Amino acid sequence: MAAGAGQLAAANQPGEIVQQECVRISDKLGSVSMADCEGQDFIASPGISVQGAPILYREYPPLESRKPMGRVLLIGGIHGDEYSSVSIVFKWMQTLNIHHSGMFHWHVIPLMNPDGLLRQESQRMNANNVDLNRNFPMADWHNKTSEYWVKVTERNPRRYPGAEPLSEPESRWLAAEIDHFHPDVIVSVHAPHGVVDYDGPKDGPHKLGRLYLQLIGTYPGSLGNYAGVQKKIPVVTIELPYSGTLPAPVEIAQIWTDLVEWLRRNIKGKEFPVATVHDTDPS
Ligand SMILES: [Zn+2]
Repeated sequence: MAAGAGQLAAANQPGEIVQQECVRISDKLGSVSMADCEGQDFIASPGISVQGAPILYREYPPLESRKPMGRVLLIGGIHGDEYSSVSIVFKWMQTLNIHHSGMFHWHVIPLMNPDGLLRQESQRMNANNVDLNRNFPMADWHNKTSEYWVKVTERNPRRYPGAEPLSEPESRWLAAEIDHFHPDVIVSVHAPHGVVDYDGPKDGPHKLGRLYLQLIGTYPGSLGNYAGVQKKIPVVTIELPYSGTLPAPVEIAQIWTDLVEWLRRNIKGKEFPVATVHDTDPS
């Protein structure tokens, strides 16, 4: 294509923007078909990537009949070379499409870093070569992130935190989304460490499917640090065992079942503002 993605996005209608992105996602991921992607009620967010790709997300809203127990933000693919983290979110969306009961109000972002995944050779970082999961604000960000990047990672380019906190459009959009949606829990999917990690108040899930809780540590500039430690929003990080291979279907289902059960038990009892329920009465 001669025109850049940004020019195309600006010229086209939202439906076409979603379709274009679905073509690129289904071309890249063997586990996500065009129908899997196009069949979703995706919203092409106004938050666009460095190269102009939309960040697609889907809402599973509160149902008229039931006050949700809380709001959950589910994110895949903040690291563009962790293919399974995107594919599994699409699988879980298929489950939600059938079984969304209104227990939770979901916002689902299957691919947080489209430029990282949707390039010839997928990469962890975004198009500016920034690790988005190190680009979130914290006190003394410049010293903390650069100390970590220089001393601990020895300037590993895959861990570059960027020049400023929220220097990247993708991390800026996600921070705004967290402010706007006010999630009670954030679930972020990664690979390939094969564990559950957790940042935030109280305790994380001890086991999701065959993945056990193992606190990896909270990196300066990470989403877990920003949302979990600073904003006190529980952040469950699911580290799948392989980047390039999905778990078996039974394990995909078990991780989901265990996650929903953990959410049910841990969000339960909390008071939620009535505003989380639609007050439009069709009668
Ligand atoms: Zn990752």
